[in-house]
Amino acid sequence: GMVVGRRVGSRRKWKRVVRVLKELEEGCETPVGRLRQVVDAMAVEMHAGLASEGGSKLKMLLTFVDHLPTGSEIGTYYALDLGGTNFRVLRIQLGGRRSSILSQDVERRPIPQHLMTSTSEDLFDFIASTLKQFVEKEESGSEPSPVRTRELGFTFSFPVKQSSLRSGILIKWTKGFAIEDMVGKEVVELLEAAMVRSGLDMRAALLVNDTVGTLALGRYHDADTVAAVIIGTGTNACYLERADAIIKCQGLPTTSGYMAVNMEWGNFWSSHLPRTSYDIDLDSESPNPNDQGFEKMISGNVSRLSIPFILQTPLVAAMHEDDSPELKEVAKILKETLGISEVSLKVRKLAVRICDVVTRRAARLAAAGIVGILKKIGRDGSGGTTGGRSKSDVKMRRTVVAIEGGLYTSYAMFRQYLHGGLSEILGEDVAQHVVLQVTEDGSGIGGALLAASYSSIPQRG
Ligand code: BGC
Ligand code: MG
Repeated sequence: GMVVGRRVGSRRKWKRVVRVLKELEEGCETPVGRLRQVVDAMAVEMHAGLASEGGSKLKMLLTFVDHLPTGSEIGTYYALDLGGTNFRVLRIQLGGRRSSILSQDVERRPIPQHLMTSTSEDLFDFIASTLKQFVEKEESGSEPSPVRTRELGFTFSFPVKQSSLRSGILIKWTKGFAIEDMVGKEVVELLEAAMVRSGLDMRAALLVNDTVGTLALGRYHDADTVAAVIIGTGTNACYLERADAIIKCQGLPTTSGYMAVNMEWGNFWSSHLPRTSYDIDLDSESPNPNDQGFEKMISGNVSRLSIPFILQTPLVAAMHEDDSPELKEVAKILKETLGISEVSLKVRKLAVRICDVVTRRAARLAAAGIVGILKKIGRDGSGGTTGGRSKSDVKMRRTVVAIEGGLYTSYAMFRQYLHGGLSEILGEDVAQHVVLQVTEDGSGIGGALLAASYSSIPQRG
């Protein structure tokens, strides 16, 4: 959410603009010392969120996912991915050998805006009927399948308090959704009721967050994957935690001794975060004031929220990366989006500068968040409990973090700043062992892979 300002006329006004920009720059500074404080705060809050229910703004939600796909999964599975501007239905066929996805069909649909603030019944009826059409199309012409109910992985990318793999209640909405009747409800029950109403024979095998789907797909391709991060319309991370470290839930029955934890890091807060008056304004004008503080500093804007959010991230990226000498793209966007015409080159440069300041801060804070996770699981090269050894003595294991979301994948400057932040915080010799691996459609495909992996149908391997 950035406000470029109206037409800048007189010299005096210009001086003021320059001063305000300088203040913004100073307010958004993220020197490595400050980033390290954010890293430490993240790790501390992770501990607190695992120690007791409500112990931190980081909810550290249980997912009940205690094993990840191995590659031996086999069969046909559906997935439904709901959680941003689009929702996706997909179907995959798994061959049962390492990373063999035999076929995958996806259909993307924008969610009609009125359904984002309507009733849960309206939303799920729309979803179920889209899903039903998709299933009919996919299965037309093929042999009628034996008496087996279709299985679905349901990726629902909002904070959910789960009580099992396939049940959980919505804690709150984020990202511009606001369907009041749904808060506190069992998400899978609502979906299944709508599937019954539409006459679709399908069972939701499990309910997962998009970060967990991304972790699953990351692991399917690379066994060193231990965490997943999304930086798109919203932002969040999940990682594999030792079950005995999840103090708030002692005696968790897990098959592996591990469980994926959905951090909901979008709600992280620390006094070390560089907060400006613009952040305060953006927050108070948002539909969820005092909520999702980290998310509001990092992730993309949603234009439909209100006019102050009109400048969507792709436009920020386009302005930021405009390399024409006259900054033609910047001028075009300022005119078409903000209605500011005939902008001088000086003002165009100013706009680019603002994009840079805001994006750099966002990317470096995301880097600090990632290192916070690495620190918590002893993969930040500091040697954890062994103590006494210098960084270079510690043998760092290859550590893969699966990553998705438009800010990272489609915004080169964001990506560059994030990598720069990681190297600065960790030091080159440690950072080289940390791989950020982009997965594609992990939120959807990962959901289907998990459905397969937890399926009651016997697996090969
Ligand atoms: C939600 C998370 C989700 C993230 C990325 C956030 O707003 O709270 O559950 O993982 O967006 O989609
Ligand atoms: Mg998504």
